[in-house]
Amino acid sequence: MGRKERFYADIMSVHPEVTGSCNIVTVRLPNGEKFHFIVDCGMFQGRKEEEERNKKLVFRPENIDFCLITHGHADHIGRLPLMVKKGYSRYIYTTDVTRNIMESALKDSVSILRSKAKRNKEKAIYDDGDVACTMQHVHACNFNQWIHVRDNVNVMFLENAHLYGAAMILVNIRYPNQNDINILFTGDYNEKNLFFKPKPLPDWLYSLPLTIVQESTYGYMNSSEIEETFSDNVVRFAKKGGTILIPAFALGRMQEVLYRIKLLQDSKAISTEIPIYVDGKLGIKYTGMCANGILGVSEEMRDFLPQNVVFVDKTTRGDILKNNGPKIIVTTSGMGSHGPVETYIPSYITKSNTLIQFTGYVAEGTLGRELKDASIGETVKIRGVLYKKRAEIQYTNEFSAHAKADEMISFLQRFERPNLVLVNHGEWQVKDIFARRILKEVNAKNVAILGQYFHRINPYGLVTSKSAKFL
Ligand SMILES: [Zn+2]
Repeated sequence: MGRKERFYADIMSVHPEVTGSCNIVTVRLPNGEKFHFIVDCGMFQGRKEEEERNKKLVFRPENIDFCLITHGHADHIGRLPLMVKKGYSRYIYTTDVTRNIMESALKDSVSILRSKAKRNKEKAIYDDGDVACTMQHVHACNFNQWIHVRDNVNVMFLENAHLYGAAMILVNIRYPNQNDINILFTGDYNEKNLFFKPKPLPDWLYSLPLTIVQESTYGYMNSSEIEETFSDNVVRFAKKGGTILIPAFALGRMQEVLYRIKLLQDSKAISTEIPIYVDGKLGIKYTGMCANGILGVSEEMRDFLPQNVVFVDKTTRGDILKNNGPKIIVTTSGMGSHGPVETYIPSYITKSNTLIQFTGYVAEGTLGRELKDASIGETVKIRGVLYKKRAEIQYTNEFSAHAKADEMISFLQRFERPNLVLVNHGEWQVKDIFARRILKEVNAKNVAILGQYFHRINPYGLVTSKSAKFL
């Protein structure tokens, strides 16, 4: 073997597309020592075949030296309890805010898994006890500080606007008399957030010899292509005195939707007389945490709630369904599957004076996606029951917490000359389109797609790519 291959890191991705985020890195030091670490350990979501993949880990948890978590979305943390249950016994490093989110999110995940397992007559992949055990492994880190995670490895959490507490993670691997190996994991990436202002990245980062693992969810679309339709739709139905049902993700999205409604009230585009019902235990909990400053929301944004908000639980939900007056219902979950929205959609889908306004990505296999293709008057089947669709259904991606292709390119262009950009976390076609764009517009030595291959890097950049083989 050549000298350059003696000190290297192999990077691979467990799931090449959008959900189930998990990167595995194997490091080989010049003294022959090898160790492994992972970045994120997420849940697969959407189609049944995808969800089947949740049951099995493709690596041996007892062989992993440390685990780094970029942020608290379920597709990045949802399988941590399974990993702990199967024998992971070391630290899980993340930020303080993500630790707070993680505890609530994983508990909620238990109840979703439990009801799914009951439906399929099988055992849930983990329970509350596994979640409690997982939380004992979590070590909360400050942003912008080097954390010594093991011999030869330091990591730094850098602020990321994708979500409260979200980080990009810089991993620095060093060995005496060798140049360092540096890897930056963007996680899900965004540069702006309504609710907090992230600290800019340190200047020295841009001149570091670096491999960047870059997400690419919206790698096919520029920010100028986003159409803002939400406000117009809400105002149109509010004027008609109709029901406006807004499925929203509990974390981030629900709070943003509520803030947008407040802006509509403030500008008198809608009346403050219209009640705003907020439903979904986890969404209500996060909304409270945001208002109280627990999730790092900046002080001037903590007053984001509109007037006339009523928090709803299962004891009061029935009254809302009986109320025929004008109203706005903001409820979990965002994809139309799981949570109280499963009760609201069948109740309102047949009513013509209703708008069902989706506010984010709806994965294949979810009710949100099924409804997308049906036209007015068509029959739709929800849980085996047939309904005539009379409600207007609208979708928008204007709330997306991901940077768009042009924003990701301008982020990558700030680096002097990255050794390698690995395109990650996107649908196959999108990753391909985006990788080609990086090749043209970014001054990187190499560009590759993370997924079917593992990529071996050393301090100078890419050494080789081979078919992925898990530990
Ligand atoms: Zn995310």
